[in-house]
Amino acid sequence: MKFSNLNNKNNNELNKFKDKLLEIQDFSKIYEKINNIWESRKEEFEYKFEVDITKDKGIIKNFPACIQEILSKLKEGQNLVHTERLYIVWFLNALKYPEEEIINIFSALPDFDRDKTGYQVRFAKKKGYTPYSCKTLKTYSLCLGKKFKDKLCLEGYFSRKLDIQKKISHPLFYVQYKQFVSMKKKEYEQNSQKKHNE
Ligand code: SF4
Repeated sequence: MKFSNLNNKNNNELNKFKDKLLEIQDFSKIYEKINNIWESRKEEFEYKFEVDITKDKGIIKNFPACIQEILSKLKEGQNLVHTERLYIVWFLNALKYPEEEIINIFSALPDFDRDKTGYQVRFAKKKGYTPYSCKTLKTYSLCLGKKFKDKLCLEGYFSRKLDIQKKISHPLFYVQYKQFVSMKKKEYEQNSQKKHNE
């Protein structure tokens, strides 16, 4: 039997199995719920692409205000509260910032201890802690979208699929969305330049 025929056969059987499951009322309800959640979230995955910090140093301009503020405090050697320390480490780890660079960011702090900071950065990486969501950052009063009048934080983005304005829910999504938009803008400019030269 040809591979494509085998694939079709498997798909038909899977569909039949799915239809049978959907006849069970409880399953059908759960399936519908999952489907609705997926439909409302799947567009966000289009903007998710690997951010390679070693190749794109300009990424910092695409960081949200809640991170920019902590970075400027660190630059000035201002003390940070515990949640700010955790948040910045988890955020930079999530973007695969090199360990040494994260440690150096803390070096202007009055209580800086290279070994201790290195241990904490490595520990957080090993545990795979993910940075706080916007909702949690708001409860810690670390969200600065309002203060900095950040359009993306305040108004969200337009969802082409759902035809509605959607709020952003995570600072990492903020970075990915901004990166996506600037990548598209660059592509557009390059194509226009090419056409102009032809
Ligand atoms: S909305 Fe989210 S990304 Fe924007 S400043 Fe607030 S916490 Fe940060």
